[in-house]
Amino acid sequence: MAQTKNKTTGEQLAEKLLEKPKNAGLIMSDDEIKKADEFCEGYKDFLNSGKTERLACAEAVKLAEKAGFKAFKKGKEYKAGDRFYYVNRSKAVILTVMGKKPLADGIRLAAAHIDSPRLDLKQHPLYEEKDMALFKTHYYGGIKKYQWTTVPMALHGVVVREDGTAVDINIGEDENDPVFCVTDLLIHLASDQMKRSLADGVRGEELNLLIGSRPFKDDKVSKKVKLNIMKILNEKYGIIESDFISAELEIVPAFKAKDLGFDRSMVGAYGQDDRVCAYASLAAALECKKPTYTCMTVLTDKEEIGSDGNTGLNSSYLPYFIDDLAETQGVKGHTVISNSICLSADVNAAEDPTFSDVTESRNASKLGYGVVFTKYTGARGKSGTSDASAETVGRIRCMMNKGGVIWQTGELGKVDAGGGGTVAAYIANLDMDVIDVGVPVLSMHAPFEVTSKLDTYQCYKAVKVFFDDKD
Ligand code: MN
Ligand code: MN
Repeated sequence: MAQTKNKTTGEQLAEKLLEKPKNAGLIMSDDEIKKADEFCEGYKDFLNSGKTERLACAEAVKLAEKAGFKAFKKGKEYKAGDRFYYVNRSKAVILTVMGKKPLADGIRLAAAHIDSPRLDLKQHPLYEEKDMALFKTHYYGGIKKYQWTTVPMALHGVVVREDGTAVDINIGEDENDPVFCVTDLLIHLASDQMKRSLADGVRGEELNLLIGSRPFKDDKVSKKVKLNIMKILNEKYGIIESDFISAELEIVPAFKAKDLGFDRSMVGAYGQDDRVCAYASLAAALECKKPTYTCMTVLTDKEEIGSDGNTGLNSSYLPYFIDDLAETQGVKGHTVISNSICLSADVNAAEDPTFSDVTESRNASKLGYGVVFTKYTGARGKSGTSDASAETVGRIRCMMNKGGVIWQTGELGKVDAGGGGTVAAYIANLDMDVIDVGVPVLSMHAPFEVTSKLDTYQCYKAVKVFFDDKD
Protein backbone atom coordinates (compact mmCIF):
# COMPACT_ATOMS: atom_id res chain seq x y z
CA MET A 1 0.00 0.00 0.00
CA ALA A 2 1.43 3.35 -0.99
CA GLN A 3 2.00 5.93 1.71
CA THR A 4 -0.33 8.80 1.15
CA LYS A 5 0.13 10.79 4.31
CA ASN A 6 2.78 13.51 4.12
CA LYS A 7 5.60 13.30 6.63
CA THR A 8 5.70 15.85 9.42
CA THR A 9 8.63 18.25 9.68
CA GLY A 10 9.86 16.28 12.68
CA GLU A 11 9.71 13.03 10.75
CA GLN A 12 11.58 14.57 7.85
CA LEU A 13 14.20 16.04 10.16
CA ALA A 14 14.64 12.76 12.01
CA GLU A 15 15.12 10.98 8.71
CA LYS A 16 17.77 13.45 7.66
CA LEU A 17 19.62 13.91 10.94
CA LEU A 18 19.35 10.83 13.10
CA GLU A 19 21.06 7.47 12.92
CA LYS A 20 18.87 4.46 12.23
CA PRO A 21 20.74 1.21 12.85
CA LYS A 22 19.04 -1.72 11.12
CA ASN A 23 19.41 -5.46 11.10
CA ALA A 24 21.19 -6.58 7.93
CA GLY A 25 18.41 -9.13 7.47
CA LEU A 26 15.99 -6.23 6.86
CA ILE A 27 18.23 -4.42 4.40
CA MET A 28 19.70 -7.23 2.31
CA SER A 29 17.67 -8.59 -0.61
CA ASP A 30 16.59 -12.23 -0.52
CA ASP A 31 19.05 -12.85 -3.32
CA GLU A 32 21.94 -11.40 -1.33
CA ILE A 33 20.94 -13.31 1.79
CA LYS A 34 21.07 -16.48 -0.29
CA LYS A 35 24.56 -15.50 -1.47
CA ALA A 36 25.64 -14.99 2.14
CA ASP A 37 24.34 -18.43 3.11
CA GLU A 38 26.22 -19.98 0.19
CA PHE A 39 29.38 -18.08 1.10
CA CYS A 40 29.24 -19.57 4.59
CA GLU A 41 29.24 -23.13 3.18
CA GLY A 42 32.80 -22.43 2.00
CA TYR A 43 33.50 -20.79 5.32
CA LYS A 44 32.44 -23.88 7.28
CA ASP A 45 34.68 -26.05 5.08
CA PHE A 46 37.58 -23.71 5.84
CA LEU A 47 36.90 -23.97 9.58
CA ASN A 48 36.77 -27.77 9.41
CA SER A 49 40.01 -28.11 7.49
CA GLY A 50 41.93 -25.34 9.25
CA LYS A 51 41.64 -25.81 13.00
CA THR A 52 45.26 -24.80 13.71
CA GLU A 53 47.44 -22.05 12.23
CA ARG A 54 49.45 -24.67 10.29
CA LEU A 55 46.32 -26.28 8.85
CA ALA A 56 44.67 -22.93 8.07
CA CYS A 57 47.87 -21.75 6.39
CA ALA A 58 48.05 -24.91 4.26
CA GLU A 59 44.37 -24.60 3.36
CA ALA A 60 44.81 -20.94 2.37
CA VAL A 61 47.77 -21.87 0.13
CA LYS A 62 45.76 -24.69 -1.42
CA LEU A 63 42.88 -22.33 -2.25
CA ALA A 64 45.30 -19.66 -3.48
CA GLU A 65 47.07 -22.07 -5.83
CA LYS A 66 43.73 -23.21 -7.15
CA ALA A 67 42.92 -19.55 -7.88
CA GLY A 68 46.19 -19.13 -9.79
CA PHE A 69 48.50 -17.70 -7.11
CA LYS A 70 52.17 -18.74 -7.42
CA ALA A 71 54.91 -19.00 -4.80
CA PHE A 72 56.74 -15.69 -4.28
CA LYS A 73 60.16 -15.37 -5.90
CA LYS A 74 62.44 -12.90 -4.19
CA GLY A 75 63.92 -10.39 -6.61
CA LYS A 76 61.38 -11.02 -9.36
CA GLU A 77 59.87 -7.91 -10.91
CA TYR A 78 56.14 -8.38 -10.69
CA LYS A 79 53.67 -6.55 -12.91
CA ALA A 80 50.06 -5.46 -12.44
CA GLY A 81 47.74 -8.43 -12.05
CA ASP A 82 50.47 -10.84 -10.85
CA ARG A 83 49.29 -12.93 -7.89
CA PHE A 84 51.59 -14.71 -5.49
CA TYR A 85 51.91 -15.99 -1.92
CA TYR A 86 54.68 -16.13 0.64
CA VAL A 87 54.61 -18.62 3.52
CA ASN A 88 56.33 -17.85 6.81
CA ARG A 89 57.41 -21.05 8.63
CA SER A 90 54.23 -22.95 7.71
CA LYS A 91 52.19 -20.80 10.12
CA ALA A 92 51.52 -17.51 8.35
CA VAL A 93 50.95 -16.54 4.76
CA ILE A 94 50.97 -13.30 2.77
CA LEU A 95 48.94 -13.18 -0.45
CA THR A 96 49.68 -10.38 -2.89
CA VAL A 97 47.93 -9.12 -6.01
CA MET A 98 50.01 -6.48 -7.78
CA GLY A 99 48.19 -3.25 -8.59
CA LYS A 100 48.37 -0.87 -11.52
CA LYS A 101 49.82 1.93 -9.38
CA PRO A 102 53.44 1.75 -8.23
CA LEU A 103 54.12 0.35 -4.78
CA ALA A 104 55.33 3.80 -3.70
CA ASP A 105 51.66 4.88 -3.70
CA GLY A 106 51.00 2.37 -0.94
CA ILE A 107 49.21 -0.92 -0.64
CA ARG A 108 45.81 -2.05 0.63
CA LEU A 109 46.51 -4.54 3.40
CA ALA A 110 44.06 -6.91 5.11
CA ALA A 111 45.44 -8.61 8.22
CA ALA A 112 43.71 -11.46 10.05
CA HIS A 113 44.99 -14.14 12.42
CA ILE A 114 44.67 -17.90 12.02
CA ASP A 115 45.73 -19.01 15.51
CA SER A 116 42.96 -19.61 18.05
CA PRO A 117 42.80 -20.43 21.77
CA ARG A 118 43.47 -24.11 22.44
CA LEU A 119 45.43 -26.54 24.62
CA ASP A 120 49.06 -27.23 23.68
CA LEU A 121 50.94 -30.32 24.84
CA LYS A 122 53.81 -29.77 27.24
CA GLN A 123 57.27 -31.05 26.30
CA HIS A 124 56.96 -34.05 28.64
CA PRO A 125 53.24 -34.63 28.22
CA LEU A 126 52.73 -38.37 28.60
CA TYR A 127 52.08 -39.95 32.00
CA GLU A 128 50.10 -42.71 33.66
CA GLU A 129 48.09 -42.47 36.83
CA LYS A 130 45.45 -44.83 38.28
CA ASP A 131 45.85 -47.07 35.23
CA MET A 132 44.98 -44.24 32.88
CA ALA A 133 47.21 -42.47 30.35
CA LEU A 134 47.04 -38.70 30.07
CA PHE A 135 48.74 -35.74 28.40
CA LYS A 136 49.82 -32.65 30.36
CA THR A 137 48.76 -29.47 28.55
CA HIS A 138 49.47 -25.75 28.62
CA TYR A 139 46.62 -23.59 27.40
CA TYR A 140 47.29 -21.12 24.57
CA GLY A 141 45.48 -17.79 24.55
CA GLY A 142 42.86 -16.48 26.93
CA ILE A 143 40.38 -19.16 27.93
CA LYS A 144 37.78 -19.81 30.61
CA LYS A 145 39.35 -23.11 31.60
CA TYR A 146 36.16 -24.75 32.83
CA GLN A 147 34.73 -24.50 29.29
CA TRP A 148 37.42 -26.86 27.94
CA THR A 149 36.51 -29.93 30.00
CA THR A 150 34.20 -32.75 28.78
CA VAL A 151 34.46 -31.59 25.18
CA PRO A 152 35.52 -34.10 22.49
CA MET A 153 38.97 -33.07 21.31
CA ALA A 154 41.22 -33.72 18.31
CA LEU A 155 45.01 -33.60 18.19
CA HIS A 156 46.99 -31.84 15.46
CA GLY A 157 50.56 -30.87 14.90
CA VAL A 158 54.04 -31.87 14.00
CA VAL A 159 56.69 -33.95 15.77
CA VAL A 160 60.35 -33.66 14.81
CA ARG A 161 61.99 -37.00 15.52
CA GLU A 162 65.45 -37.66 16.89
CA ASP A 163 66.85 -38.10 13.37
CA GLY A 164 65.49 -34.71 12.31
CA THR A 165 62.62 -35.96 10.19
CA ALA A 166 59.17 -34.56 10.86
CA VAL A 167 55.84 -36.31 11.05
CA ASP A 168 52.40 -34.71 10.98
CA ILE A 169 49.79 -35.84 13.45
CA ASN A 170 46.09 -35.41 12.75
CA ILE A 171 43.69 -37.49 14.79
CA GLY A 172 40.12 -36.93 15.91
CA GLU A 173 38.62 -35.25 12.85
CA ASP A 174 37.60 -38.27 10.79
CA GLU A 175 34.25 -39.84 11.63
CA ASN A 176 36.06 -43.10 12.50
CA ASP A 177 38.88 -41.50 14.52
CA PRO A 178 38.96 -41.72 18.30
CA VAL A 179 38.77 -38.43 20.23
CA PHE A 180 40.16 -37.27 23.58
CA CYS A 181 38.85 -35.18 26.46
CA VAL A 182 39.67 -33.37 29.67
CA THR A 183 37.61 -34.88 32.47
CA ASP A 184 35.71 -32.98 35.15
CA LEU A 185 34.39 -34.00 38.54
CA LEU A 186 30.83 -35.28 38.88
CA ILE A 187 28.60 -32.79 40.69
CA HIS A 188 28.00 -35.20 43.63
CA LEU A 189 31.66 -35.05 44.62
CA ALA A 190 32.29 -31.46 43.63
CA SER A 191 31.18 -29.60 46.75
CA ASP A 192 34.72 -28.31 47.38
CA GLN A 193 35.32 -27.55 43.71
CA MET A 194 32.01 -25.68 43.50
CA LYS A 195 33.24 -23.31 46.22
CA ARG A 196 36.16 -22.24 44.05
CA SER A 197 35.71 -19.05 42.01
CA LEU A 198 34.74 -19.49 38.36
CA ALA A 199 38.25 -18.42 37.29
CA ASP A 200 39.71 -21.11 39.53
CA GLY A 201 37.02 -23.77 38.99
CA VAL A 202 39.29 -25.80 36.75
CA ARG A 203 42.97 -24.97 37.09
CA GLY A 204 45.67 -24.95 34.41
CA GLU A 205 47.31 -28.08 35.82
CA GLU A 206 43.92 -29.81 35.86
CA LEU A 207 43.53 -29.55 32.08
CA ASN A 208 44.90 -33.06 31.55
CA LEU A 209 43.84 -34.90 28.44
CA LEU A 210 42.61 -38.50 28.79
CA ILE A 211 44.19 -40.60 26.03
CA GLY A 212 44.01 -44.27 27.06
CA SER A 213 43.25 -46.93 29.66
CA ARG A 214 44.23 -50.37 28.31
CA PRO A 215 47.44 -51.93 29.69
CA PHE A 216 50.20 -53.67 27.76
CA LYS A 217 50.28 -57.28 29.04
CA ASP A 218 53.71 -57.80 30.58
CA ASP A 219 54.29 -58.32 34.30
CA LYS A 220 57.90 -57.16 34.01
CA VAL A 221 57.00 -53.56 33.19
CA SER A 222 55.31 -50.90 35.26
CA LYS A 223 53.18 -48.13 33.69
CA LYS A 224 51.61 -50.60 31.30
CA VAL A 225 48.95 -48.20 29.96
CA LYS A 226 51.54 -45.56 29.14
CA LEU A 227 53.67 -48.18 27.41
CA ASN A 228 50.72 -49.35 25.37
CA ILE A 229 49.99 -45.78 24.22
CA MET A 230 53.64 -45.23 23.28
CA LYS A 231 53.59 -48.52 21.35
CA ILE A 232 50.57 -47.35 19.35
CA LEU A 233 52.18 -43.96 18.67
CA ASN A 234 55.43 -45.64 17.63
CA GLU A 235 53.68 -47.97 15.22
CA LYS A 236 51.62 -45.20 13.71
CA TYR A 237 54.06 -42.27 13.67
CA GLY A 238 57.49 -43.79 14.31
CA ILE A 239 58.02 -41.66 17.40
CA ILE A 240 59.49 -42.36 20.85
CA GLU A 241 58.65 -40.55 24.10
CA SER A 242 61.54 -38.08 23.92
CA ASP A 243 60.34 -36.89 20.49
CA PHE A 244 57.62 -34.89 22.28
CA ILE A 245 60.41 -32.51 23.26
CA SER A 246 60.64 -31.27 19.68
CA ALA A 247 56.96 -31.15 18.84
CA GLU A 248 54.12 -28.70 18.46
CA LEU A 249 50.94 -30.57 19.27
CA GLU A 250 47.65 -28.75 19.64
CA ILE A 251 44.40 -29.98 21.13
CA VAL A 252 41.27 -28.49 19.61
CA PRO A 253 37.56 -29.33 19.70
CA ALA A 254 36.88 -32.31 17.44
CA PHE A 255 33.40 -31.30 16.27
CA LYS A 256 32.63 -29.76 12.91
CA ALA A 257 31.19 -26.32 12.14
CA LYS A 258 27.39 -26.32 12.18
CA ASP A 259 24.50 -24.12 11.16
CA LEU A 260 22.99 -22.63 14.29
CA GLY A 261 19.33 -21.81 14.93
CA PHE A 262 16.05 -23.02 13.43
CA ASP A 263 16.60 -20.38 10.74
CA ARG A 264 20.22 -21.50 10.12
CA SER A 265 21.18 -17.82 10.35
CA MET A 266 24.35 -18.41 12.35
CA VAL A 267 27.46 -20.56 12.34
CA GLY A 268 28.51 -22.36 15.51
CA ALA A 269 32.09 -23.63 15.48
CA TYR A 270 35.49 -23.69 17.09
CA GLY A 271 38.13 -21.14 16.06
CA GLN A 272 35.94 -18.48 14.46
CA ASP A 273 38.15 -15.89 16.18
CA ASP A 274 39.71 -15.14 13.85
CA ARG A 275 39.29 -17.58 11.02
CA VAL A 276 36.02 -15.86 10.15
CA CYS A 277 37.89 -12.68 9.14
CA ALA A 278 40.74 -14.79 7.74
CA TYR A 279 38.32 -16.57 5.42
CA ALA A 280 36.54 -13.34 4.46
CA SER A 281 39.89 -11.67 3.66
CA LEU A 282 41.16 -14.74 1.83
CA ALA A 283 38.01 -14.99 -0.28
CA ALA A 284 38.30 -11.31 -1.22
CA ALA A 285 41.99 -11.80 -2.11
CA LEU A 286 41.27 -14.83 -4.29
CA GLU A 287 38.76 -12.80 -6.30
CA CYS A 288 41.04 -9.78 -6.61
CA LYS A 289 42.28 -9.60 -10.22
CA LYS A 290 43.94 -6.35 -11.36
CA PRO A 291 43.45 -3.79 -8.60
CA THR A 292 44.45 -0.13 -8.72
CA TYR A 293 46.61 -0.48 -5.61
CA THR A 294 48.61 -3.56 -4.77
CA CYS A 295 46.45 -5.67 -2.45
CA MET A 296 47.95 -7.77 0.27
CA THR A 297 46.35 -10.21 2.71
CA VAL A 298 48.31 -11.47 5.67
CA LEU A 299 47.01 -14.42 7.66
CA THR A 300 49.17 -14.39 10.73
CA ASP A 301 49.95 -16.49 13.77
CA LYS A 302 50.46 -15.70 17.48
CA GLU A 303 47.80 -13.00 17.86
CA GLU A 304 46.19 -14.82 20.76
CA ILE A 305 49.38 -14.65 22.83
CA GLY A 306 50.27 -11.06 22.04
CA SER A 307 51.68 -11.30 18.49
CA ASP A 308 55.25 -11.95 19.69
CA GLY A 309 57.37 -14.55 17.92
CA ASN A 310 58.62 -14.75 14.35
CA THR A 311 55.24 -15.80 12.94
CA GLY A 312 53.37 -13.01 14.75
CA LEU A 313 52.83 -9.44 13.55
CA ASN A 314 54.95 -7.94 16.31
CA SER A 315 57.89 -9.41 14.39
CA SER A 316 59.43 -8.03 11.20
CA TYR A 317 58.35 -10.63 8.68
CA LEU A 318 55.69 -8.41 7.10
CA PRO A 319 57.84 -5.25 6.71
CA TYR A 320 60.75 -7.43 5.48
CA PHE A 321 58.49 -8.91 2.83
CA ILE A 322 57.26 -5.46 1.77
CA ASP A 323 60.91 -4.36 1.70
CA ASP A 324 61.84 -7.17 -0.68
CA LEU A 325 58.94 -6.32 -2.94
CA ALA A 326 59.68 -2.58 -2.84
CA GLU A 327 63.30 -3.14 -3.80
CA THR A 328 62.25 -4.53 -7.18
CA GLN A 329 60.62 -1.15 -7.94
CA GLY A 330 63.57 0.82 -6.63
CA VAL A 331 61.65 2.22 -3.67
CA LYS A 332 62.16 1.95 0.07
CA GLY A 333 59.93 -0.43 2.02
CA HIS A 334 59.06 2.26 4.55
CA THR A 335 57.81 4.54 1.77
CA VAL A 336 55.36 1.82 0.74
CA ILE A 337 54.32 1.19 4.33
CA SER A 338 53.81 4.84 5.21
CA ASN A 339 51.48 5.34 2.24
CA SER A 340 49.41 2.23 2.90
CA ILE A 341 46.11 1.53 4.65
CA CYS A 342 45.27 -1.58 6.59
CA LEU A 343 42.07 -3.29 7.62
CA SER A 344 43.02 -5.20 10.73
CA ALA A 345 40.42 -7.91 10.27
CA ASP A 346 39.56 -9.34 13.66
CA VAL A 347 36.40 -10.19 15.50
CA ASN A 348 34.63 -8.06 18.09
CA ALA A 349 32.40 -9.08 20.99
CA ALA A 350 28.75 -9.04 20.00
CA GLU A 351 26.24 -7.84 22.55
CA ASP A 352 24.97 -10.89 24.43
CA PRO A 353 21.29 -10.70 25.48
CA THR A 354 22.08 -12.74 28.58
CA PHE A 355 25.15 -10.75 29.64
CA SER A 356 24.37 -7.29 28.28
CA ASP A 357 25.65 -5.54 31.41
CA VAL A 358 29.25 -5.63 30.10
CA THR A 359 28.40 -3.74 26.92
CA GLU A 360 27.16 -0.21 26.40
CA SER A 361 24.39 -0.73 23.89
CA ARG A 362 24.82 2.47 21.88
CA ASN A 363 28.42 1.54 21.12
CA ALA A 364 28.38 -2.24 21.12
CA SER A 365 28.33 -4.38 17.99
CA LYS A 366 25.21 -6.41 17.39
CA LEU A 367 24.92 -9.84 15.85
CA GLY A 368 23.36 -9.54 12.40
CA TYR A 369 23.95 -5.80 11.98
CA GLY A 370 26.77 -6.22 9.48
CA VAL A 371 30.55 -6.02 9.60
CA VAL A 372 31.82 -4.06 12.59
CA PHE A 373 34.39 -1.26 12.45
CA THR A 374 36.26 -0.77 15.68
CA LYS A 375 38.03 2.56 16.02
CA TYR A 376 39.82 1.56 19.20
CA THR A 377 40.25 -1.48 21.39
CA GLY A 378 42.50 -1.44 24.46
CA ALA A 379 41.72 -1.40 28.17
CA ARG A 380 41.11 1.26 30.81
CA GLY A 381 42.21 4.62 29.31
CA LYS A 382 42.57 3.15 25.80
CA SER A 383 45.79 1.43 26.84
CA GLY A 384 47.32 -0.71 24.11
CA THR A 385 45.25 0.50 21.18
CA SER A 386 46.23 2.36 18.02
CA ASP A 387 42.91 4.29 17.92
CA ALA A 388 42.21 5.02 14.25
CA SER A 389 42.17 8.71 13.34
CA ALA A 390 39.02 10.58 12.30
CA GLU A 391 40.54 10.83 8.82
CA THR A 392 41.10 7.07 8.56
CA VAL A 393 37.64 6.25 9.85
CA GLY A 394 36.19 8.87 7.49
CA ARG A 395 38.00 7.41 4.51
CA ILE A 396 36.86 3.87 5.24
CA ARG A 397 33.31 5.06 5.97
CA CYS A 398 33.06 6.71 2.53
CA MET A 399 34.56 3.63 0.89
CA MET A 400 32.09 1.26 2.56
CA ASN A 401 29.03 3.43 1.90
CA LYS A 402 30.00 3.78 -1.76
CA GLY A 403 30.49 0.02 -1.99
CA GLY A 404 27.10 -0.76 -0.42
CA VAL A 405 28.55 -2.57 2.59
CA ILE A 406 26.30 -2.97 5.63
CA TRP A 407 28.42 -1.99 8.58
CA GLN A 408 28.20 -0.93 12.21
CA THR A 409 30.63 0.28 14.82
CA GLY A 410 31.56 -1.41 18.04
CA GLU A 411 33.83 -0.99 21.01
CA LEU A 412 35.22 -3.89 22.99
CA GLY A 413 32.90 -3.73 25.99
CA LYS A 414 31.99 -0.98 28.42
CA VAL A 415 34.66 1.42 29.63
CA ASP A 416 36.47 -0.30 32.52
CA ALA A 417 34.70 -3.61 31.85
CA GLY A 418 37.91 -5.17 30.56
CA GLY A 419 39.25 -4.84 27.05
CA GLY A 420 41.62 -6.41 24.60
CA GLY A 421 43.79 -5.81 21.57
CA THR A 422 44.40 -6.92 18.00
CA VAL A 423 47.26 -6.73 15.52
CA ALA A 424 46.16 -3.18 14.61
CA ALA A 425 48.55 -1.54 17.07
CA TYR A 426 51.58 -3.42 15.66
CA ILE A 427 50.69 -2.42 12.12
CA ALA A 428 50.04 1.18 13.16
CA ASN A 429 53.45 1.22 14.86
CA LEU A 430 55.03 0.56 11.44
CA ASP A 431 53.56 3.95 10.41
CA MET A 432 50.52 2.69 8.54
CA ASP A 433 46.91 3.91 8.78
CA VAL A 434 44.85 1.09 10.24
CA ILE A 435 41.39 0.34 11.54
CA ASP A 436 39.90 -2.82 13.02
CA VAL A 437 37.14 -4.43 11.03
CA GLY A 438 35.51 -7.76 11.65
CA VAL A 439 32.62 -9.95 12.59
CA PRO A 440 30.74 -9.77 15.92
CA VAL A 441 31.08 -13.02 17.88
CA LEU A 442 29.18 -14.56 20.79
CA SER A 443 30.99 -16.84 23.27
CA MET A 444 34.37 -15.66 21.95
CA HIS A 445 37.31 -17.93 22.94
CA ALA A 446 34.94 -20.73 23.96
CA PRO A 447 35.24 -24.13 22.24
CA PHE A 448 32.02 -23.28 20.36
CA GLU A 449 31.77 -19.69 19.10
CA VAL A 450 28.83 -18.09 17.30
CA THR A 451 28.70 -15.72 14.32
CA SER A 452 25.96 -14.45 12.00
CA LYS A 453 26.21 -15.52 8.36
CA LEU A 454 25.14 -12.08 7.14
CA ASP A 455 27.91 -10.39 9.16
CA THR A 456 30.51 -12.79 7.74
CA TYR A 457 29.33 -12.04 4.22
CA GLN A 458 29.45 -8.29 4.87
CA CYS A 459 32.99 -8.67 6.20
CA TYR A 460 34.00 -10.35 2.95
CA LYS A 461 32.26 -7.55 1.03
CA ALA A 462 34.09 -4.93 3.09
CA VAL A 463 37.51 -6.36 2.22
CA LYS A 464 36.44 -6.69 -1.43
CA VAL A 465 35.37 -3.03 -1.57
CA PHE A 466 38.64 -2.06 0.14
CA PHE A 467 40.66 -3.97 -2.46
CA ASP A 468 38.64 -2.29 -5.23
CA ASP A 469 39.64 1.15 -3.88
CA LYS A 470 40.61 3.47 -6.69
CA ASP A 471 41.10 6.81 -4.88
MN1 MN B 1 41.04 -12.25 17.33
MN1 MN C 1 41.01 -13.78 20.32
